[in-house]
Amino acid sequence: MLCPACRNGDTRVIDSRDDENAVRRRRECQSCRHRFTTYERIEAARLFIIKKDGRREPYNRDKVLAGLRRACEKRPISEAAMQEVADAVERELYARGESEVSSGVVGELVMSALKKLDKVAYIRFASVYRSFTDLNSFQEELAQLLPKNE
Ligand SMILES: [Zn+2]
Repeated sequence: MLCPACRNGDTRVIDSRDDENAVRRRRECQSCRHRFTTYERIEAARLFIIKKDGRREPYNRDKVLAGLRRACEKRPISEAAMQEVADAVERELYARGESEVSSGVVGELVMSALKKLDKVAYIRFASVYRSFTDLNSFQEELAQLLPKNE
């Protein structure tokens, strides 16, 4: 990192702080003492999703939205609300500060956002996402969500 004032390469980090989507660093040039700030963030295109079969593909917001639209079909959920879910999922993904995330993590994030938004959409998404390999825990989820008969 070159000093923007004198182009000297010897700069020192004097403070480091995590913002929502970036690491903010205060640096000081060891030659002219000029202080400046740098931000380190993950490039959107550099976030990779590791699929269940081990394949790696660039993160694609449209795929998250496609899954949301299927789950929210004919539910009273606006496009804006779905975009907000995608935003929330992305914020969480980037907040991890890792360049690779498993597709399972993405699915869990979508599920937890949908659970707060719409129970039917949540159940639809979870049933597709978890398939039938996990039927017992899915039934437990359903039992928790449905009103109890007393
Ligand atoms: Zn300098």
